[in-house]
Amino acid sequence: MLLGVHVLDGGMASELEYLGANIDGPLWSAHVLEDAPEKIVAVHRAYIEAGADCIETASYQVSRMGYAEFGLAQERADAALLRAVELARHAAAEFPERRVVVAASLGPYGAALHNGAEYHGNYGVGFGELVAFHRERIRVLAGAGADGPDLLAFETLPSLEEADAIGEALAPWPELAAWFCFTCGDERHVAHGELLADCAAAVARLPQTVAIGVNCTHPSLMPALIAELRRASEKPVVVYPNSGEGWDAEKRCWTGEGDPTSFGAQAAEWFASGAQIVGGCCRTRPAHIGLVAEVAPKL
Ligand SMILES: [Zn+2]
Repeated sequence: MLLGVHVLDGGMASELEYLGANIDGPLWSAHVLEDAPEKIVAVHRAYIEAGADCIETASYQVSRMGYAEFGLAQERADAALLRAVELARHAAAEFPERRVVVAASLGPYGAALHNGAEYHGNYGVGFGELVAFHRERIRVLAGAGADGPDLLAFETLPSLEEADAIGEALAPWPELAAWFCFTCGDERHVAHGELLADCAAAVARLPQTVAIGVNCTHPSLMPALIAELRRASEKPVVVYPNSGEGWDAEKRCWTGEGDPTSFGAQAAEWFASGAQIVGGCCRTRPAHIGLVAEVAPKL
């Protein structure tokens, strides 16, 4: 499924902002998916032009629960998930000579809470609720058949419990393909505190797992985390860290190093240490991905 895929895309939200889309508010993707779909296609196109051979849909925080909180019907959330896939397919079809894989971006339960809870994973809900939350989105995407995504990208996962819940949620659909990417707080642990190696070993057993990795994490942690992943399973490793800038919550701004050149140099190291797929998360742009494509293994 991911044979020959080496370059993933970069951040969606910030790129939409550069294109003038209004991404203020917790349900930005809903508004952009409905009001300015051409901007989402433009972001996908920019990443494919930069060299991405896998793109992620603009659906990270789309869920029935998140929509319900703002009085939006569940049908609208389901439709948004499918619309996001359609827009990615549309952009991929503009490059018929390339084989671009479409991955459905599925954020964790915490992303639907809109309070940053995905970065600690203490949700205060039971396992069953986590399973139900993930299963309703999986059911919608699985039901789309050939119009669905090539794979489900479960990302920014903070805990072993949530990864286990997704495994349970996926159980009725063994034929689906999925990757599991965790957000990590240091060189060995996911945000909630479990060992990344334990999380990787757990999801490696699922029939749907086509890759395991790390995203939404500082790039300086990648070499150590890639080593942990390789030790824990034989699955392909996918990493898409943040640009390297940090969010200063007090001043409400990004600070530090976000230079694409250093990101590209680090990406070469990540490939060399065994990552098969490299892309970018928050604050990465087509320039970052262009440099990743330059250092990616060639067929
Ligand atoms: Zn991120």
